Amino acid sequence: MANFDYDVLYIGSGHAAWHGALILARAGKKVAFAERDLTGGTCTNYGCDAKALLDGPAELVSALERYKDLGLTADIKMDWPKFMSYKHQVIDPLANVMTGMLNNAGFPIIRGSAEFIDEHTVKVGDQTVTAENIVICTGQNDFKLDIPGKEYMHTSREILDLPELPKHITFIGAGIISMEFASLLTQFGVKATVIEFADRALLAYNEEYAMRIVDKLKEAGVDFHFGESLASVEKSGDKFIAKTASGLTVETDYILAATGRRANVEGLGLENVGVEFSPRGVKVDDHMRTNVPNIYASGDVVDKMIPRLTPTATFESNYIALAILGNPAPIKYPAVPNVVFTLPRIAAVGVSVNQALKDPEKYHIEKIAYGQMLSFEFRNETDAEATIVLDKDNYLVGAELYGDMAAEMINTVTLIVNARMTMEQMMGTIWAFPTQTDGLTELLASKLHSDMAK
Ligand SMILES: Cc1cc2nc3c(=O)[nH]c(=O)nc-3n(C[C@H](O)[C@H](O)[C@H](O)COP(=O)(O)OP(=O)(O)OC[C@H]3O[C@@H](n4cnc5c(N)ncnc54)[C@H](O)[C@@H]3O)c2cc1C
Repeated sequence: MANFDYDVLYIGSGHAAWHGALILARAGKKVAFAERDLTGGTCTNYGCDAKALLDGPAELVSALERYKDLGLTADIKMDWPKFMSYKHQVIDPLANVMTGMLNNAGFPIIRGSAEFIDEHTVKVGDQTVTAENIVICTGQNDFKLDIPGKEYMHTSREILDLPELPKHITFIGAGIISMEFASLLTQFGVKATVIEFADRALLAYNEEYAMRIVDKLKEAGVDFHFGESLASVEKSGDKFIAKTASGLTVETDYILAATGRRANVEGLGLENVGVEFSPRGVKVDDHMRTNVPNIYASGDVVDKMIPRLTPTATFESNYIALAILGNPAPIKYPAVPNVVFTLPRIAAVGVSVNQALKDPEKYHIEKIAYGQMLSFEFRNETDAEATIVLDKDNYLVGAELYGDMAAEMINTVTLIVNARMTMEQMMGTIWAFPTQTDGLTELLASKLHSDMAK
């Protein structure tokens, strides 16, 4: 049998990599990482964590605003430079903490860009490393439309690091990243303009909830231009001018490109070993294995329909570790919860409302206006609502929630979906009261499949 440096080499050190590595280490496997940037990847250093940290105060201020006409008077000022230094204080040490954690677990982190030489050999910087199994976990990078002046546009990574906020920002795209940043930054007094190719925002979500977010942002002074295709960006003194194909021009201080992200497949030498890939990512089978049997792919870099999120990357990482240790079962994803961290949130799981509306033979939807019905419990959030998706037998197969607490509540709803809970099982559960979850689950229970119903 060939003698390799490592049993498993991970290319990348984000969530798609390190969770599974810990499982392999416990099983006595020799593991290493190749990483060309900060240890821990996008979520830890440039994505979810920094975003959530800056969103915290914005969420509080947004909640306080609901009490303005009811007796609350407060003169709250949001100081971006101070919150940015708080962000640096919390986020900047994380890469070193992660490096320490992985080194303590016995994993070397080989620094540099990795490139396949053959199916067991990878060049990392000026080192050559061999491994029995290799897991590609290289994630995605920010993408800019290939138009004149694209160099003047910025990315989510840059906006999360801005020492001072521009006065007026143009967001290109009305997807999750744009809508989240528009919600966050308007709380800091930024004026925003959104240019979107489609005829509405947040296409994957319930149109009604997406429109509610758009309306809230309009109230906060955001201008929306739907059905517009960005054609070029020009610089004029300190300003940047976005021009669309129809002739619309928008002059602002900063432009954020948020029209999607692209898989990090370039420069990896995948063609040297014949691993199949496309701009959507690395192709894998239902065992997360590429067409080269000892090479797997995990996380955002995978060409997949499942949402590209931290928990799906973690799930795949754990699955691959167990597959390498001998588990023969194909990967089976449970219902995946996902959240749009706007103010308020939209959170969804399972079969989407859009999908249910297209397939009325299979699904029906119902609304639960829990914010109105239980207003005494809900911090004066009377528009909080859920749209639930039931199958023909009235099992809950999906839901979309709109409201401040939706990000937390979707986890409970996910359990109900995955466990296929019946009305009797829901009634056999006691939830803490008064809480939003109790309000929602009480109203939900009566709609679910009952073993006693004729
Ligand atoms: C602004 C933003 C906000 C987000 N918010 C959320 C959220 O709220 N919730 C959520 O679940 N998800 C969120 N995400 C998505 C989440 O960050 C990703 O799904 C997750 O980080 C994917 O992990 P990964 O390990 O697949 O990739 P990454 O974390 O991107 O890791 C890939 C690593 O590979 C390294 N690499 C790439 N190519 C090479 C190479 N050739 N050689 C060596 N190293 C290489 C990179 O340097 C990187 O460290 C957000 C993303 C962004 C950008």
